[in-house]
Amino acid sequence: VSPSEFFKSQIRTVRGWPKAGVNFRDVTTLFHNPQAFRMAIDVFASDCERRPVDIIAAVDARGFALGGALAYHLGKPFVLVRKKGKLPYKTISESYQLEYGTAAVEIHMDACKPDDRVLIVDDLIATGGTLLAAAKLFRELQGNVIGVAALIDLVELGGSQKLRAAGLNVHALCE
Ligand code: 5GP
Repeated sequence: VSPSEFFKSQIRTVRGWPKAGVNFRDVTTLFHNPQAFRMAIDVFASDCERRPVDIIAAVDARGFALGGALAYHLGKPFVLVRKKGKLPYKTISESYQLEYGTAAVEIHMDACKPDDRVLIVDDLIATGGTLLAAAKLFRELQGNVIGVAALIDLVELGGSQKLRAAGLNVHALCE
């Protein structure tokens, strides 16, 4: 099987969660398989060897598992992009639209230096709103956001297209 088919086979679909009509892509099954988890991190890491990064950032909360392992593997600084109200020091914040209402993500105001090359990691790209908001935060600090990495891209929702239009490289392990 192709790498993308392999990764897909490791992700469980939970029908009707969190509400009727939604098919939730559950990555805990991929995390549970050490071979699959390691392979995912190794693919992201080899990307970073081709296109060097200074900072690995990851989105609350499943992104943390991936970003933490990747930052450890590469020996790079690791930054948490958190939901609003969770970070203790001075923060900058970015809101974005959800299907109903808004959400906001935050980073510490010293999370990167100007021109630092930043890769932002999350488990899944749906509308792209979360990763775009995260990218805006690093750009506000004059960081050079080189791209985003995710396990899954729900292509039909147009998120990866929106992220590319914002000048970001998008790498997803499967669709
Ligand atoms: P977006 O902002 O791209 O619309 O939504 C992506 C965010 O929502 C990610 O942080 C992701 O964790 C979460 N998300 C939305 N749908 C799913 C899903 O089906 N599975 C998983 N694992 N996360 C999802």
